[in-house]
Amino acid sequence: MAPPLDTRPALSGLPLDELTNIIKPLPPFRAKQIFRWIAGGARSFGQMSSLPLSLREDLDRRFLMYSSALAGRLEDPGGAVKLQIRLRDGVKIEAVLLSDGGKGETRRYTACLSTQAGCPGACVFCRTGSLGFLRNLDSPEITEQFLFLRALVPGISNVVIMGMGEPLLNLGELRRALSVLTAPEGLALSPRRITLSTSGITAGIRDLADRGPPIRLALSLTTADEALRRRLMPLGRANPLSALKDALVYFQRRGGGRVTLEAALFSGLNTRPRDAAALIAFAKGLDAVVNLIPWNPVAGLEFEGKPLKEPAKAEIEDFTRRLKQGSLKVTRRFRRGRSIRGACGQLGILNLPEEPGNQGLGEAD
Ligand code: SAH
Ligand code: SF4
Repeated sequence: MAPPLDTRPALSGLPLDELTNIIKPLPPFRAKQIFRWIAGGARSFGQMSSLPLSLREDLDRRFLMYSSALAGRLEDPGGAVKLQIRLRDGVKIEAVLLSDGGKGETRRYTACLSTQAGCPGACVFCRTGSLGFLRNLDSPEITEQFLFLRALVPGISNVVIMGMGEPLLNLGELRRALSVLTAPEGLALSPRRITLSTSGITAGIRDLADRGPPIRLALSLTTADEALRRRLMPLGRANPLSALKDALVYFQRRGGGRVTLEAALFSGLNTRPRDAAALIAFAKGLDAVVNLIPWNPVAGLEFEGKPLKEPAKAEIEDFTRRLKQGSLKVTRRFRRGRSIRGACGQLGILNLPEEPGNQGLGEAD
């Protein structure tokens, strides 16, 4: 029989005001101390040496520090690391550390975080989508992914919310996690170095524009051909392109800054001249950069009975040239993390070897 779930609240993902409330009747300065210890990488109350021993023991009885645990780790030669994390109900999720390939001190690290176990998006080209939807992650489960990755390398400067799940369908919990990640007295990440990628939830884009936080936005456009988009991305049916465009314009009017239009590319499907023309038309009036992501193969995925294929080099180049002729700024995403199935759209629950020893990683000094 499975052991009963530990129902103690986890403190790792609590914004400072919530932490202050939950530890009452302890005074607020204790909340600040605990908050700083967690941001500093402490893994247990026992490590919080600035707190009296009796208090540490009391905290241990009432709360958990972390609600999840490392379950496995895969590294690819390019420097990407994928962590498999077991949540307290046994569900497994993944988080990825990406590096820009720079040398030594100049190397910049990005954490790619998940917001849901599985995804209701059901995009035909995405491994996560093919798993179906399990559940939303809560704030500690999102925050802890960052803390586990940060234990591998100090100084992660950027975060992309592009892992498993559709973040704008879990915006409440994500907001709490972002509050912890950006708190000046804690992890102190700049919101401008955090990018959320959405498959296009119109109401969520407007909500983000209205209520923040002021993070950057990427839209997985994939194609600006409405009919094709609906076939590739079922959520697109409820979120037509015209409404998405209006929401992006609104987001920028509210000060959201430049948006990224992401397009995963499939051979012979969305790289036609008319796709380029539609994309140029969609981007008109927006401050946007187009990010092309040659499809990362996922075994077994098909589109209407035919296997999906990655685009050939010449196909990508031709498509890029057309976009540039339409005065678009175009970037191409690296295929970082492919060998560990940690690249875009390849995240899914794998049976990685268990590494219980990893749980001690990153302990405070
Ligand atoms: N659910 C969000 C964020 C996660 S997906 C979203 O869809 O935006 C992150 C990006 O990876 C999206 O732009 C998505 O279109 C792209 N993607 C999904 N599967 C892919 C694959 N197999 N190869 C390349 N890109 C993929
Ligand atoms: Fe979900 Fe994004 Fe994958 Fe679509 S691409 S299934 S929205 S994770």
